[in-house]
Amino acid sequence: MPDRLKLPCKFCGERNTAVQQTIGCDEAGNMVRKRVCPDCGRGFRTYETTKKPYLVIPPRN
Ligand SMILES: [Zn+2]
Repeated sequence: MPDRLKLPCKFCGERNTAVQQTIGCDEAGNMVRKRVCPDCGRGFRTYETTKKPYLVIPPRN
C-alpha cells in the first residue's frame, strides 16, 4: 500500500493503522473502509478517493 494511503489514527496519531474491513463504495465513488488502530484500539471509518484519502469519524451508536 502506498504511504499516502496510510492514514494516521485520528485519536492518537499512530500511523500504522490497519484496514479491518472494506465496506464498499459510497454514492460519490469513495472507497469506504473500516480501520482499527493497533495502538489505542479504537476503530474509525475512512472514505478514500484516488486523489486524497480523508477521515470521517462516525457517531457512536
Ligand atoms: Zn490510535
